[in-house]
Amino acid sequence: MTVTRFAPSPTGWLHIGNLRTALFNYLIARKTGGQFILRLDDTDRERSKAEYVDGIKADLDWLGLHWDRIERQSDRLGRYAEMGDSLRAAGRFYECFETPTELDLKRKKQLNMGKPPVYDRAALALDDDAREKLRAEGRQGYWRFRLDLQRIEWTDGILGDLSIDAASVSDPVLIRADGQVLYTFASSVDDMDMGITHVVRGADHVTNTATQIQIIRAMGGTAPAFAHHSLLTGPQGEALSKRLGTLSLRDLRAQGVAREALLSLMARLGSSQPVALRADLDEIAEGFDLAQFGAAPTKFDAADLWPLTRAHVQALPLDAVADRLRDLGVPTEIAPAFWAVARENIDRLDDLTDWWALCRDGATPEIAPEDTDFVAQALTLLPPPPYGPQAWADWTAAVKAATGRKGKGLFMPLRKALTGRGHGPEMGALMPLLQRVRALEDRLA
Ligand code: GLU
Repeated sequence: MTVTRFAPSPTGWLHIGNLRTALFNYLIARKTGGQFILRLDDTDRERSKAEYVDGIKADLDWLGLHWDRIERQSDRLGRYAEMGDSLRAAGRFYECFETPTELDLKRKKQLNMGKPPVYDRAALALDDDAREKLRAEGRQGYWRFRLDLQRIEWTDGILGDLSIDAASVSDPVLIRADGQVLYTFASSVDDMDMGITHVVRGADHVTNTATQIQIIRAMGGTAPAFAHHSLLTGPQGEALSKRLGTLSLRDLRAQGVAREALLSLMARLGSSQPVALRADLDEIAEGFDLAQFGAAPTKFDAADLWPLTRAHVQALPLDAVADRLRDLGVPTEIAPAFWAVARENIDRLDDLTDWWALCRDGATPEIAPEDTDFVAQALTLLPPPPYGPQAWADWTAAVKAATGRKGKGLFMPLRKALTGRGHGPEMGALMPLLQRVRALEDRLA
């Protein structure tokens, strides 16, 4: 059975890049009838926050990316310690004492000599006495994994055949001096223990993958199949990392972006398939194929979410918006007519608020100076609301007869006088929904 996981660290809100990872893993499980695990990578106790855990769950819930199981790394510290002991016993963990400053100095020297800045394994040469001495000096040891200096090869689900020479990578630090288990280790133990079969994550993890394959094998496990999706850039190819904070899922949701728009875009963006609005996750899963995604950075433009959101909301049946209309205060009897009129004039459901306010409260009239007399004359021909379906046709015919105006010069000033704006629904359909006409009230006041 396929088992995938989405493994965010609860140290911030989920953003659009995280969504891509979550969605790909979710879709693989869904397509194959497998399991999708939400794994919280929360070994960093200082930065992990309960509010972010809640936020992650709320975002995934909203998107409909339901997980079969939730796992928290903080619940598994005993297991990591156990695996750490066994790797230590097998000679794959070794204790190091260099400070960050010392390591930095080593790196600079290597770079100056034109060498890759790979950890020189000096600590491997320490004997028990030397280690004791360092501890006596007050240094605390931390643990690195000794890589096998071979080529690490795998067939990546997106990038194809990859190979990384372990000699070009520093032995990773897996346990810090304060005992904190680092992500690379915890993730390897989890992927093995939880029977993860497929891992999709960002291309920034390619080097981690090489080391994790070795760590999992050293523990006697089988590495999952890996796939690395490209990273997102802004529309001009600029790095998105600094802007991701403003592209959090909760912000996009608060702006009124539809979940269907987000899912439809992110499930296809960067692939050879066209982006189109798809109704639900079944339709999105159908035709989803990792192999169709490219290695090149993927340009993401948040503006692309709006046409999809618009297409989605405009296609909604009355049923789907009935609660929302009720919350807005639209009386049930006129909800169908209001929805029919408003739907084509909204980009997102939140825009309904303004259209309903217009119907209920009327609008501050917009009257150009050169139209003042014309509008004043026209208003003498308009009875107060309520209006029937013929009201607009009757009124404009009467105004036309009285003033001789026609076409745009007739209709536009009247529209603006009644609605305060130059665009919007068919006036014939809108007028029966107008409960107040401020321009009339102003005239009569
Ligand atoms: N917590 C890691 C991250 O958010 C998980 C990476 C992975 O999928 O292994 O980058």
